[in-house]
Amino acid sequence: MSSDVRVRFCPSPTGNPHVGMVRTALFNWAFARHHGGTFVFRIEDTDAERDSEDSYLALLDSLRWLGLDWDEGPEVGGPYAPYRQSERLDIYADVVRQLLDAGLAYPCYCTPAELEERREQARKEGRTPGYDGHCRDLTADQCAALAAEGREAAIRLRMPDQDWTWDDLVRGEVTFGREHVPDYVIVRANGDPLYTLVNPVDDALMRITHVLRGEDLLSSTPRQLAMYQALAAIGVGDGGTPRFGHLPYVMGEGNKKLSKRDPESSLLMYREQGYLPEALLNYLALLGWSMGEDREFFSLPEMAEAFDVSRVSPNPARFDLKKCTAINGDWIRSLAPEEIGRRIVPFLQRDGLVEDPISGEEWGVLMQAVPLVQERMETLGQAEGMLGFLFVSESAFAIDPDQDIADEQSQQVIAASLEALNAIDAWDAPTLEAALRAALIDGLGLKPKVAFGAVRVAVTGRRVSPPLFESLEILGRERTLGRLTAARTT
Ligand code: GLU
Ligand code: ZN
Repeated sequence: MSSDVRVRFCPSPTGNPHVGMVRTALFNWAFARHHGGTFVFRIEDTDAERDSEDSYLALLDSLRWLGLDWDEGPEVGGPYAPYRQSERLDIYADVVRQLLDAGLAYPCYCTPAELEERREQARKEGRTPGYDGHCRDLTADQCAALAAEGREAAIRLRMPDQDWTWDDLVRGEVTFGREHVPDYVIVRANGDPLYTLVNPVDDALMRITHVLRGEDLLSSTPRQLAMYQALAAIGVGDGGTPRFGHLPYVMGEGNKKLSKRDPESSLLMYREQGYLPEALLNYLALLGWSMGEDREFFSLPEMAEAFDVSRVSPNPARFDLKKCTAINGDWIRSLAPEEIGRRIVPFLQRDGLVEDPISGEEWGVLMQAVPLVQERMETLGQAEGMLGFLFVSESAFAIDPDQDIADEQSQQVIAASLEALNAIDAWDAPTLEAALRAALIDGLGLKPKVAFGAVRVAVTGRRVSPPLFESLEILGRERTLGRLTAARTT
């Protein structure tokens, strides 16, 4: 099934990928997949001062990690290559020449100081302080004279005298009055083409049919509509204008817009803490969209199948890290233990707890241990804390310094446990439990929490661990007895 639907994800490679960006990519991806269309990935890197190669590579790596595959774009190519705007500068220069020749754009020689002065004046007089069209009708002689003064010209688009209205896919009819959309700069005085030029030019050339993007870009839409008219007039693109849909704001703490600088914005944070890409996408899909019937747990293919842009809400969405984490826990529980084990391995390797590649023996231990923690794990990054005691070498094993078991009662527990466990033949959870219950609960008359707590600390190093008897079984006789012995201070 293929259709004419063509959407794009076109981030600028500045800084680290963040969740707002991922949500935009996800909605475009789902829209394309739902309609059997084409998902174009374009890099808007025309700002040499802010763009970086690291950031570009991080973008590619992130989309791959998330599983948002693109049909055209970097590394895969496509009919409208290249897909990095830094490699398309000739195209933009050519379009600008055509716009100038057609009188649809013009050079503006005003200096920033002059512009500011006139804006100030307009404010004082209660007029809208946009560009006042000062250079609209300069003659060639006037231009030459200004250039001779050493002035460099920016290029502005000549806005037609009309209001701007479009039927937004999310917000319905949106209108901007002409007074809010002055002639705007498309090329800086230093020759750099701006987003307001290159983005619609490429959308036209790449035959983009639908634009889904954040609400923060709403006010740039009228300018882009004007650019589309101009491009159609000079025959760039096929003359059509994409349908726009503006995705709702994402609000963070304190009902402020989630900012790229908030720690929970960073995609890297989620990867490092062990969120599953499936879970993160599942959660981000809920920021402005719903599947209906209150369904909040779904896979990427399910989202693609169900994605209907008319179900995107214009109301601000609330980012809730707790809910995101809970969905991650649901995802962890939903996958097969082998799969979770496979995904935990890099986290254990990161902490130097297993070999790279993991040895057969280590994998065997991990496979026994995963079912013990899968139920309660919220992020894969918790594997180190929950399972580290099974993989750490005896020489490196250490008890959490906050967990004191040097007191008399704990020492009694440890001595009695050693005696009881030394005496059993079989080393399996039911036998271990029976022996320890007999020795500590019946024998010493202690409460289970107190008794087993001390054993837990001695053997796992922590107060919280996977179920104790199963843990001891996996750890094995030798290491269990060794750790209990080492925990004795008397
Ligand atoms: N490069 C722009 C950005 O990252 C793209 C905006 C758009 O979707 O038009 O904000
Ligand atoms: Zn001017």
